[in-house]
Amino acid sequence: MAGAVERLKVISIIIRLVLILFMIPALCSCGSDESGMIARVSRVAMGTLVEISAVGSPDRTKPAIEAAFDEIRRVENLTSFHKVSGLTQINDSSGETHVKSDAELVDLIRKSVRFSEYSDGAFDITIGSIGRLWNFSGESGPRLPDRSEIEKLLPTVGSKLLKIDSDQNLVFLPVKGMALDLGAIAKGYGLDRAAETLRRMGIGSGLVNAGGDIVAFGKKAPDKPWRIGIQDPRNPGGILAVGEINDRAVVTSGDYERFFMDADRRYHHILDPKTGYPAEGLQSVTIVAPDGVTADAMSTAVFVLGKDKGLALIETMPDVAGLVVDRHGSVFMSEKARHMFELKQ
Ligand code: ADP
Ligand code: MG
Repeated sequence: MAGAVERLKVISIIIRLVLILFMIPALCSCGSDESGMIARVSRVAMGTLVEISAVGSPDRTKPAIEAAFDEIRRVENLTSFHKVSGLTQINDSSGETHVKSDAELVDLIRKSVRFSEYSDGAFDITIGSIGRLWNFSGESGPRLPDRSEIEKLLPTVGSKLLKIDSDQNLVFLPVKGMALDLGAIAKGYGLDRAAETLRRMGIGSGLVNAGGDIVAFGKKAPDKPWRIGIQDPRNPGGILAVGEINDRAVVTSGDYERFFMDADRRYHHILDPKTGYPAEGLQSVTIVAPDGVTADAMSTAVFVLGKDKGLALIETMPDVAGLVVDRHGSVFMSEKARHMFELKQ
């Protein structure tokens, strides 16, 4: 099963990349004047293929893209669930002692707790203990846990249990076996940091694409905004909708990237913290927000909340738009998303 899941993951990444390349055909072209030049570099990072595009002359874009990849690596070293990281230090001390952590990591954990509050617990980074049982992101691949295993760990899930001292940067997981998993927000943070690094290095227009999750700023060319496509969750390579974005993050959570089938049932990696089982009802959720952290956390939150509650939450947030695909493949958009996306079907 592990091999099949890995294969599906790689196929999905390639399809997404091809899709984005298709949507931004002029991405690798180099014009003679500076404003028309776009440099693009792709590398595996954050568990996917990351492609960084920057507009400008090579002497400017090359070091900026390198610095952006370094920044992504730094964020991974802080937030990884499986490799030794700032986060695993906290998890390894659950039920025992508080951990003095990095201010940046503590800040991301606090933001995560805030998203749990907004979403009434649909988004919750304390899902780590139960996530480990399913093992969707682990090397050995996923498995279907016994109901009793899940129920035993449900008391370790709940952001309200977390003890955080922001002044001293201390984090304590008071229940033995509790574990934080930043898998639903760290990629968005990595995108934000990479884009910020490009800007700091003098890039005025750029696009960071981590397997279809995107942060874009500026314009591809003076009169050309960045154009992106949203993948059809049941037709790899098919485009559901297209839109233009400027200074925005676009992140999709779906049931089609990390999943396995058992007795005709699809089990995927977005878990409902109330049950410990994969959230039911939707195929995918795409969120557009001013930053990657918000778009990433909200895409997971809305996926768990479902269509009605999810869209209602989006409408309460200024500057956030969402597109939801339900279990039948029907598309629903928030008010703002209707002005952003053109449906292709
Ligand atoms: P992707 O990683 O495919 O971009 P998401 O952003 O939706 O998708 O994140 C899913 C990951 O987040 C899971 O692999 C797991 O690590 C973690 N996760 C699963 N369910 C939840 C949840 N309800 N709240 C917070 N994190 C979750
Ligand atoms: Mg997410």
